[in-house]
Amino acid sequence: MTFRTTRWTTLAAGSATTLLIAGCGAGSADETDTAAEGNGLTVLAGFYPLEWAASRVGGDLASVSSLTPPGAEAHDLELTPQDVAAVSEADLLVYIEGFQPAIDQAAESEAGDSAWEAGQAANLTLTAEDEGHSEEEEGHSDDEADSGEEAHADEEIVDPHFWLDPTRLADVGDALAERMAELDPDNAATFEENAAAMRADLEELDGEMQEALADCSVDTLVTSHDAFGYLGDRYGFEVVGISGLEPSEEPSPAGLAEIAELVGERGVTTVYTETLVDPAVAETVASEAGVETAVLDPIEGITDESAGDDYLQVMRANLETLQQGQSCA
Ligand SMILES: [Zn+2]
Repeated sequence: MTFRTTRWTTLAAGSATTLLIAGCGAGSADETDTAAEGNGLTVLAGFYPLEWAASRVGGDLASVSSLTPPGAEAHDLELTPQDVAAVSEADLLVYIEGFQPAIDQAAESEAGDSAWEAGQAANLTLTAEDEGHSEEEEGHSDDEADSGEEAHADEEIVDPHFWLDPTRLADVGDALAERMAELDPDNAATFEENAAAMRADLEELDGEMQEALADCSVDTLVTSHDAFGYLGDRYGFEVVGISGLEPSEEPSPAGLAEIAELVGERGVTTVYTETLVDPAVAETVASEAGVETAVLDPIEGITDESAGDDYLQVMRANLETLQQGQSCA
């Protein structure tokens, strides 16, 4: 993780100077003199949780939108030419490196110093192996073990799903306030206050979750894709994702059978599906193991089907679901 820290320092130092210039240009081109109205920061977020955080921190001083349309699966996002143009024009692009490859690419080619990588501040400590591949490899394909693709199988990849731990999202809010203050120094105090208010909301949520999940009979959390590692890490669950870190990874039949067996062994009573991912695979595991399903939302997007209108509401709905599904006292 050291390379990330180094790179962040360089980026931050570079952006301060460039943005002064950009700021002057925008100011002279603008017809109105009213500060907050026309001159607010234009912020593009990769997907919903970053959009929510940027909106909270930016408040009235930023116009925030998400590159992932509501209802779209965030991991597999593809950008239109208009999106790419928007990236090049935005004051700030908030994204997570390695989560949405199309945005990584646009950040590098279009955003320059306006790109801000949120994973740095979130301290992404969790990694996972590409299990689907390695199991098949060990099981029955020694011949293919030498090929380039197979060599990848054992590589550890960083888990990006930090926002499902509210305290990590609060850390991102504070860092985002600092970044916005670099772009708009006159309003630094407001960004800081907004981030503090967001932190207070997230810490209240965290307190509720700590309390409600302190004493659960079932410690294993079986979810549709492997999005809940940081949540599990914070609240004491061992998370088993049926797919890998990305919903599009197809589990092997052997992998599915293994998870169904584990469900039985560990007394799991509920397997979780998601709003934005086809529930078929999770339902197969649940019916094979003879247990129920419930919806646990990784909050990669908000739609009409979401169990709430924003991050805090959906997290509280998740909390209720978990209390029941994990048999918490
Ligand atoms: Zn995900």
